[in-house]
Amino acid sequence: TAKLMDGKRGLIMGLANDKSIAWGIAEALAEHGAELAFSYQGEALKKRVDPLAAQVGSDIVLPCDVGDEASIDALFDALADRWGKLDFIVHAIGFSDKNELRGRYVDTSRDNFRMSMDISVYSFTAVVQRAEKLMTEGGSCLTLTYYGAEKVMPHYNVMGVAKAALEASVRYLAEDLGKQDIRVNAISAGTIKTLAASGIGDFRLIMKWNEYNAPLRRTVTQKEVGKSALYLLSDLGSAVTGEVLHVDAGYHVVGMKAVDAPDI
Ligand code: NAD
Repeated sequence: TAKLMDGKRGLIMGLANDKSIAWGIAEALAEHGAELAFSYQGEALKKRVDPLAAQVGSDIVLPCDVGDEASIDALFDALADRWGKLDFIVHAIGFSDKNELRGRYVDTSRDNFRMSMDISVYSFTAVVQRAEKLMTEGGSCLTLTYYGAEKVMPHYNVMGVAKAALEASVRYLAEDLGKQDIRVNAISAGTIKTLAASGIGDFRLIMKWNEYNAPLRRTVTQKEVGKSALYLLSDLGSAVTGEVLHVDAGYHVVGMKAVDAPDI
């Protein structure tokens, strides 16, 4: 029987280990027939990414530091050689100095502000810029964001400001590339315990708070983000672009949770 991603080829950026959101997305896409390539940052991660790529039938594992233009060019040149055309990309990358992911936003340094915006915001635009040239039959681009872009969340600080800019980039990119049938969307994922998340102050408490307060009374899994990514990256999402889709057990809709105590 035909699968949703049959004949589709795409690049997954931001796989660090089997807890990465990128891995939940890769598994969902591979299960539905997608052919995948992976990029990783730094030689140390290659030995983690190689076996994961093999598990989903991929032998295309390429280095890319998104802070370096030449490194992004080299990645896309390699993909152009290997595949010629590209159908989708997943950008699951973010970075900030973890010393500034605690305490007050007002204390953010200029250097870390610049670095966080460069790696967590501009890199998506830089990658889409290259992907556009290979998406000759249309395409779908996806990035990952968080509720801290919309509302103040403890310790998220400069990353909240960066994610707000990332979400605005999604809208501008969607308009620029829509004429070529290239769609650009973001998933605003609920809190998930990953390497990047463990750098955020009080992360365990934030996870618990989500569990108690989200309409579904739980957090979300990497695989659930993967299933929503499948929707946005496949033909199921063919009329969806410029969107920020919340995959957060409903957390973002709650103003104040109803309390089961009539006398307060
Ligand atoms: P993760 O640590 O597994 O992934 C982060 C990835 O970013 C790593 O693979 C790392 O190598 C990569 N990266 C950092 N700097 C890079 C650079 N200069 N060049 C190339 N790659 C670089 O953590 P994750 O939670 O899976 O994060 C993926 C995305 O999901 C991030 O954008 C994150 O902000 C977002 N997100 C995470 C959560 C959560 O609770 N975990 C919630 C919402 C959104």
